Amino acid sequence: MSKAEEYQPGKHKLFPVILTGNEEISPGVHVISWKRNSDFLPGQVVKIALNENDQPRIYSLCSGNHEKEMRMLFNIKKEGELTPKLSSCIPGETIWVSKAYGSFTDGDQPAFRIATGTGIAPFYSMFRSGQEKDKTLIHGARYLNQFYFEDELDWALGERYIRCCSQEQSCDVFPGRVTDYLRQLETLPADHLYYLCGNALMVVEVRDLLIERGIPYKNIIAEIYF
Ligand SMILES: Cc1cc2nc3c(=O)[nH]c(=O)nc-3n(C[C@H](O)[C@H](O)[C@H](O)COP(=O)(O)OP(=O)(O)OC[C@H]3O[C@@H](n4cnc5c(N)ncnc54)[C@H](O)[C@@H]3O)c2cc1C
Repeated sequence: MSKAEEYQPGKHKLFPVILTGNEEISPGVHVISWKRNSDFLPGQVVKIALNENDQPRIYSLCSGNHEKEMRMLFNIKKEGELTPKLSSCIPGETIWVSKAYGSFTDGDQPAFRIATGTGIAPFYSMFRSGQEKDKTLIHGARYLNQFYFEDELDWALGERYIRCCSQEQSCDVFPGRVTDYLRQLETLPADHLYYLCGNALMVVEVRDLLIERGIPYKNIIAEIYF
């Protein structure tokens, strides 16, 4: 695929896929998988529904774009329409998934990738696709068991992988939120790109902080999970 397919509401037709896996990787957080049925760019999203005519929800792919399976990371929203049911689907069952689309994609320029919670998904896809040179990954979570994929990321990225935990402490984890971490850095390079992904509050706070610290607005690229 040469160009990221842009988001166009209502455009994305759903296709049936058979689930090949559903693993609870942390309490209330699952990774589901299905056989790869199309190309995609790391950082892109798909729409997912349990039935063809259900209102679909949007999810980032978290797998590498050369892998045989496509995967998606999600947390169960209590009273949510899709995620409680999706969490109890078993391999062999059919779900409905669109082709990948979206422009939250990265290139060769040095970049900071900043995520909270399941917002790590697109960055993990980029990592699994080999896009890790000159990238620093900062992941914020409330609890220590919410640093999804941390063993692999820590091993591969070393000091370029920073975990920020706001409610629990551990020796190799920054105590506080991602904004606290960014604030105490002496410099933030103005020629880097800053990719933000996760809840709206984090995205807005980090964006404002970056602008205050002299990062050009055009260097800030955000994906909000709402
Ligand atoms: C670009 C994008 C990418 C995303 N990627 C991911 C991802 O990779 N992983 C991920 O986990 N999520 C992702 N999301 C969020 C995802 O699309 C869903 O919003 C989320 O999974 C909740 O879906 P649900 O159907 O279970 O809950 P919903 O039915 O959408 O409900 C969400 C919450 O709102 C409450 N609610 C629903 N209706 C009402 C109402 N009328 N009044 C008050 N409260 C209400 C529910 O109780 C529930 O807690 C992404 C969102 C976007 C926009």
